[in-house]
Amino acid sequence: MSSAIELYDITKVYDLSGTAKVEALRGVDLKIEKGELVSIMGPSGCGKSTLLNIIGGLDNPTKGRVIVDGINITSMHEVKLATFRSERVGFVFQFFNLVPTLTALENVKLPMDLGEKLPLEKSKERATKLLNLVRLGERLHHMPNQLSGGQQQRVAIARALANDPSIVIADEPTGSLDSKGGAEIMQLIQHLNKTMNKTFILVTHDPNVAKMTHRVVHMLDGQVLETTQPSKGEPDVKGALEAQREILLAEMEWLKKALLLEEVRIEKEPQAYNDAVTEYAKRWKQLKRSLRDLRLEA
Ligand code: ADP
Ligand code: MG
Repeated sequence: MSSAIELYDITKVYDLSGTAKVEALRGVDLKIEKGELVSIMGPSGCGKSTLLNIIGGLDNPTKGRVIVDGINITSMHEVKLATFRSERVGFVFQFFNLVPTLTALENVKLPMDLGEKLPLEKSKERATKLLNLVRLGERLHHMPNQLSGGQQQRVAIARALANDPSIVIADEPTGSLDSKGGAEIMQLIQHLNKTMNKTFILVTHDPNVAKMTHRVVHMLDGQVLETTQPSKGEPDVKGALEAQREILLAEMEWLKKALLLEEVRIEKEPQAYNDAVTEYAKRWKQLKRSLRDLRLEA
C-alpha cells in the first residue's frame, strides 16, 4: 500500500503580536495509508485542526515536510496549493458551512463549477448522483435551513466529494449533531470509505465515533502521543484510563510551569499573584483527586 499522507517532523508556530508565540505542533511524524479511515483525538487546543489544515494545504508548516498523494506540498505557492486543494482534498466542517442562499444541489455543484472541469449540464448530473449517494435524492432543491443538521452534513459530504478528491478531511463532523445523527454520519463515512476507497481523516471528541474508524491518533500538546486500534468488541477501558491519566499529568506539568511564570508578578502585583496561586492550587487539588479516582478504577 502506498501512503496517502506522509508528515515528517512537522512544527507549526503561530507568531502572535509582540513576543508571544504559540507552538501548535511540535515535531509530528505521521503516515496514513491510501484508503484508511483515521480519527484524531485529543484535548481542545492540542493542535488537531492545525494538523488537518496542514494536511489539506490550507496552511503551511513552520518546519517539516508534508507529502500528500505523493506530492510535496510543503512550501507550495498559494496559487498551486489552491489547485491542489480543489482537485485532491474534500473538506467537511463541524457547522456544515453550506452557502445559505443556495439549494442542496447548487451547494454540491459549486466546487465543480469553480473548478471548471465539467460542462454545467454534467456538473448538475454529477451533483444529483452525489446527493442520491448520501440519500438526499428527495431534497435536491431544499435550502440549507430547510434541512436537519444531519441532512446538512450529508450535503456537505456530497460537496466534499464533488471534485472526486482522494482524501476527505473532516474537522469534528459529528460535533454539532446528536448521538443518533452522529452515528448516521459515521455509517455514511464508513460506507463511502469502503465503496469509493477514499482516505478519510476526521477529528473527534467522541470515543464512539473513533471506534468506527480503523485507527485512532491520540494527540497531546502539539504532539502525537500514540496511535491505537479501536477494539471492535469491549471498549478499551484500560487504554482510555491510561490516556486520561496522561492528560491529567500533562496539565499538572503545565500548571507547574505556569506558576513559575507568574512569579514575575510577586513584586508589582502581589494580589494578582496570590489570586493566581489560589486558582492554580484549587485546580491542582482537582487534578490530584481525578488522578486518585482513576487509580481506584484501574
Ligand atoms: P484543536 O483543534 O486541537 O483544538 P488548534 O489546532 O485549533 O487545536 O490549536 C492549537 C493551538 O494553536 C492552540 O493553542 C490555538 O490557540 C493556537 N492557534 C490555532 N490557530 C491559531 C492562529 N491562527 N493564530 C494563533 N494561534 C492559533
Ligand atoms: Mg479544532
